[in-house]
Amino acid sequence: MGIDVRGVTKLYGEQRALDNVSFGVATNQVVGFLGPNGAGKSTMMKIICCYIPASSGDVTVNGHDVIDHPVEVRRQVGYLPEHNPLYHDMYVREYLEFIAGLHKLERRKIGGRVDKMVEVTGLGPEVKKKIGALSRGYRQRVGLAQAMIHDPSVLIMDEPTSGLDPNQLLDIRALIRELGKQKTVILSTHIMQEVEAICDRVIIVNRGVIVADDETQVMRRKMSGGRIFVVEFDKKIGRKTLEQLPGVDSAELEQGRWRVRAADGADLREPLFRFAVDNGLAVLKLDVEEHSLEEVFHRLTAG
Ligand code: ADP
Ligand code: MG
Repeated sequence: MGIDVRGVTKLYGEQRALDNVSFGVATNQVVGFLGPNGAGKSTMMKIICCYIPASSGDVTVNGHDVIDHPVEVRRQVGYLPEHNPLYHDMYVREYLEFIAGLHKLERRKIGGRVDKMVEVTGLGPEVKKKIGALSRGYRQRVGLAQAMIHDPSVLIMDEPTSGLDPNQLLDIRALIRELGKQKTVILSTHIMQEVEAICDRVIIVNRGVIVADDETQVMRRKMSGGRIFVVEFDKKIGRKTLEQLPGVDSAELEQGRWRVRAADGADLREPLFRFAVDNGLAVLKLDVEEHSLEEVFHRLTAG
């Protein structure tokens, strides 16, 4: 089931924060929304969580429409907002019990559920403190605990690691990866490495549109830079034979053309021609892409 977003547009007055955005997220997948500030990441997340309505388009969560069945959607979605608004004067346990109450959890089950969340998020040592006394890392844990208190199958986290120190960052990332094994997770970030560390899939958003949507591994390959030689032969060949050529890092077939990545900036033009001759192939096309894909990413999301 998961999440289905179809043709979503969001207008703030004249401004198009989202422009006809569509994507689907399968269950038990960790998806990263990657994009610069103002791209529309938070807006998309708020729409999925029923916090704001889209101007047009449809969103369903596990088959429930966010406009027609918001109560059901909220039951199935946990949300960690961007600025994680917490009540600083409340004690950690008191706050989590309060949130559990808002979700109408059965009174006799609340204590156990709070214990469980404290355990899962590693809040144990700090549970007796007031929220205002906690470090940023522990406040994020409280935010995660409140997002999960009603055991939602979908978890939406808006910049969950922003403002954390390097150690806290590693802890929270590990925690999110763990959660992703049993839940559908969407998180937002503007850090490429974060996506690499946590996500199965990356959706790059810029100025309200999706500019790339790939599995992280595929995206990583695309981002890793290096020269790419685009070559088209007149016959089909196996990927392995190309990848065995000296100087070739990897090869991918895209719309009938091989995109051959060079190792260490090697010039593959001559080897590719020789390869063609040796194998009785004609070269129909040979181009060199000098831009690294890192640059392409920046171009996609710049300004
Ligand atoms: P991101 O989370 O990727 O930084 P946002 O979704 O917060 O992006 O914002 C997308 C665009 O919509 C930005 O230009 C932002 O200024 C604008 N925007 C967001 N919320 C509002 C609002 N409540 N009213 C007017 N404009 C908004
Ligand atoms: Mg945001």
